[in-house]
Amino acid sequence: MRSSFFVSIVLAVVSVVAPAAAKLSVVTTTQDPAAITRSIGGDRVTVTALAKGYQDPHFLDAKPSYMLLLHNADLVEVIGLDLEIGYIGPIVAGARNDKIQPGQPGFLDLSQFIQPLEVVAVADRSQGDIHPNGNPHYWLDPENGRAMARGIAARLAALDPGGQALYAANLAAFEQTLTAKEAEWQARMAPLAGKPIITFHRSWTYFTARYHLEVAGFVEPKPGIPPAPMHTLGLIKLVRARGIKILLVESFYDRSAPAIIAEKSGARLVAVASSVGGDAGVDTYFDLFDRITAELERALRS
Ligand SMILES: [Zn+2]
Repeated sequence: MRSSFFVSIVLAVVSVVAPAAAKLSVVTTTQDPAAITRSIGGDRVTVTALAKGYQDPHFLDAKPSYMLLLHNADLVEVIGLDLEIGYIGPIVAGARNDKIQPGQPGFLDLSQFIQPLEVVAVADRSQGDIHPNGNPHYWLDPENGRAMARGIAARLAALDPGGQALYAANLAAFEQTLTAKEAEWQARMAPLAGKPIITFHRSWTYFTARYHLEVAGFVEPKPGIPPAPMHTLGLIKLVRARGIKILLVESFYDRSAPAIIAEKSGARLVAVASSVGGDAGVDTYFDLFDRITAELERALRS
């Protein structure tokens, strides 16, 4: 019922969009590259993200409506590093679109533009839902956003040479804003440098590396494994012993375990978007860091 409703919506969207065939049709797996692509592509592109920022980006159903979207796409952008391993393969294959198959110009794995952290030599599933080629949550370092923007601009120009000047100008504007914003975020985060925090998932590796926070523990006992009582108890002790002030939780995770830890330890629960679209008002890549830094600043002050 729900998926057929979805398909009909998508069909309606496709038929509306179809006449404007001159625009480059871009589909991204998450809203972060979608926001950056909109900034670079302007009105020469239409951009759709499969996973919304309020959904867990590791898990998505490979819906037929997604294949339909990709069937008409000129470019597919993925985060890579196995973030989308559970669904991207079947969706791209099922789209029956030669242009967007891996290896083709219409398939862009954005992880090639960044330096991955937490690359592990041996993948062992007993360690939880780990990503052997590196942590895929790299969009949470604004400098990686710059690298993504450059890679996206180059690919848009290659696929649509007529838009080259516009993409270059939009990239320059994006980078200029980013540089100014980075100074602002740096200043906001400076009081938190060196401070230990607890996070829910291992999503904040790049963010905490950029701003020199120490991640002292995770609400998940292992990546992708839900909270367990003994582990939660251990965290309460750790937070008390080290006087940890902040419990950082991605907006889409269940807050019951973090709420218990906060209540029993006195730490502040900061539930915040970890992607564009993860909270109301977080619509651009810049909004994302504006929100995260403001929430952390507020938690530290209170
Ligand atoms: Zn992850």
